Amino acid sequence: MNRTMTALAALSLAFPAQAKTLPAPMTLEQAADDALTGDKVAWDFVEGITTEVGPRQAGTEAEARGRAWAVQWLKANGFKNVAIEPYMMPTWIPGEPGRAEIVSPFPQRFAVAPLGTSASTGPEGITAEVVMFATVADLQAAPAGSLKGKIAYVSNSMTPTQDGSQYGFAGPTRWVASGIAASKGAVATVIKSVGTDNHRNPHSGGTTFPEGVTPTPAGALSNPDAANLERMFKRAGGKPITMKLVLTPQDLGQTESGNVVGEIVGRNPSLPPVLIACHLDSWWQGTGAIDDGAGCAIVAAAARNVGFAGQPLRTIRVLFAGAEETGLWGSKAYSAAHVNEPFAVGLESDFGADRVWRFDSNFRETNPALHKRIALAVARFGVSGGTDAAGGGADLNVVRDQKGALVDLQQDGTRYFDLHHTPDDTLDKIDPVQLRQNVAVWTQVVGMLAGEATSILTGGPVPTAPPMMQGK
Ligand SMILES: [Zn+2]
Repeated sequence: MNRTMTALAALSLAFPAQAKTLPAPMTLEQAADDALTGDKVAWDFVEGITTEVGPRQAGTEAEARGRAWAVQWLKANGFKNVAIEPYMMPTWIPGEPGRAEIVSPFPQRFAVAPLGTSASTGPEGITAEVVMFATVADLQAAPAGSLKGKIAYVSNSMTPTQDGSQYGFAGPTRWVASGIAASKGAVATVIKSVGTDNHRNPHSGGTTFPEGVTPTPAGALSNPDAANLERMFKRAGGKPITMKLVLTPQDLGQTESGNVVGEIVGRNPSLPPVLIACHLDSWWQGTGAIDDGAGCAIVAAAARNVGFAGQPLRTIRVLFAGAEETGLWGSKAYSAAHVNEPFAVGLESDFGADRVWRFDSNFRETNPALHKRIALAVARFGVSGGTDAAGGGADLNVVRDQKGALVDLQQDGTRYFDLHHTPDDTLDKIDPVQLRQNVAVWTQVVGMLAGEATSILTGGPVPTAPPMMQGK
């Protein structure tokens, strides 16, 4: 129904007094445009969860409080079928604030944070000589046993990029260096933070130890402290540099975590739903504002706005995944439980709150008409149509496992890795104007997808089962 028809209907049915008090039904385009200028829902979510819950370390009671908060919020905002889907996961907690101290030749303290799955040094700490490597490849090339009794340090740096692609280049320093160093006899590993800021904030995040390698203590130095350590190597004249490292994380064994879901129920609930995801957990240092309170705020606000433009054809399901940061436990559990339930398409928001600049899908070639229609519809928000094949985010395992349709709304990541996994991941870093642009773009795209009667992936009839169940 267009605006003129709506107005005429209102005039004929309820003229005059009541019609004025009823909000006029709006088109999807109007709902998206309204979000751009006036959305308060996403801000309400991220302001609320960072204030009332704060950090939400996976598997802990803080994450459970986050789930309870999200359930209440979804119900209060008109979502149906709101539920927690629990699962068990191995839980690691960071312990006391870490300490890294150069003992000699230039004694001073550095800012350090433990990396997820790091072992403990014990409260007395470990004191050992530091051996520096420029890259993970250099560390990999070190002879077997050559790091016995040493602390390995990797100095690889990261630079900011709009698309965040430098994370793929710098990330392995955090993801795998400690495991490689441990396999060569190192007693501990420290890395330069995988981050792009110059604050004295270490960036945490998960690391891994390969099967058969006993985990060792592993920490990230803040970037200015890492630079200081590198200068020490230049000035030490070959004298050993000795560090005392105190990291006291703990493994709590299996604890309960959970995914939170809620729906805007569609007119035809037998059609596969649109799945929009984010993650509810965060690392402990900040309050999980950009990672990923903002993502949950954006997807929830978009779903709600689509509902304001009239009941969508397909159901829109929000998935607030648990325990993404420590190993995608929520995403894996959701796929295990729901892989046989067909989904129309999956989208995720997990890259902060800065503006969306490009739309990508994985159906540009198989359903070019729909791809083009969406690209045209988001152009008014400054979003270009991309040619990369969307891969979906970490919490969309279920859709990837089904080989289903995926959309990526690429956000500006220039600032993201200044804040990512640091104490600076707090509400004040969210730009409300850019947050609203996200909600507007998401409202437009999710609304269009939820209005599609045919298969998103092919434009053909809706399959009765996911491709994987049909042997494709
Ligand atoms: Zn995240």
